[in-house]
Amino acid sequence: MINSNVELNGNRAHLNGKSAGFAEAFTDEIGAQHVGTSYDTPMKPDAFDLPEEEKMKQIEKHFREIMDVLGLDLTDDSLRGTPKRVAKMFVREIFSGLHPENKPKVSLFDNKFKYRQMLVEKGIRVQSFCEHHFLPIYGRAHIAYIANGKVIGLSKLNRIVEYYARRPQVQERLTVQIANELKEVLGTEDVAVYIEAKHMCVEMRGVQHEHSSTVTTEYGGKFLNENTRAEFLQAIR
Ligand SMILES: [Zn+2]
Repeated sequence: MINSNVELNGNRAHLNGKSAGFAEAFTDEIGAQHVGTSYDTPMKPDAFDLPEEEKMKQIEKHFREIMDVLGLDLTDDSLRGTPKRVAKMFVREIFSGLHPENKPKVSLFDNKFKYRQMLVEKGIRVQSFCEHHFLPIYGRAHIAYIANGKVIGLSKLNRIVEYYARRPQVQERLTVQIANELKEVLGTEDVAVYIEAKHMCVEMRGVQHEHSSTVTTEYGGKFLNENTRAEFLQAIR
């Protein structure tokens, strides 16, 4: 996935000359293999032109149609409110990390104690959604950094994970987005992110491997050094 950006764009360019069937097979293949196309979440330029309320209204309408097509009786008291609930949940909760306004404001503190060692925050909850199947991804993230004069409030590490998780995602991109954000706010390349997660789309459909989990990692700066990385991996074991 890491090197796939260029490759995929290349493939896409090829597609122009191919049949629609080929293009469809290629799109299916990306979804089946859980390959993303870039580090940035692919967004339209006008992604935030519509106000939240309007987005919820439209999603409600479309979700009602999906349920209707599936044959569900939307006059049933139990189902009646579902499209509205789903719309609100998408916009306000599980996909709220799409909106840059929801990015956590991070305050840094002076590293008064001159702590120059590795700080590891283990077991941060990850709850996200697979962008290929719109089913949950859930697991734990372990994060480490080596302070460069400034330190971050620990709860902000959780907030950063949560912000990027609350989008349709692929696990590799989530890992890299968290690492890049940490590098930027902490002003250091010395950052490590390790995510172990399960994908409901793998458990419930396709190969139905309920016991497998996926590990993704991103190491920068001093963590590219074998000893530093070993210390981190030891800490999160
Ligand atoms: Zn999936």
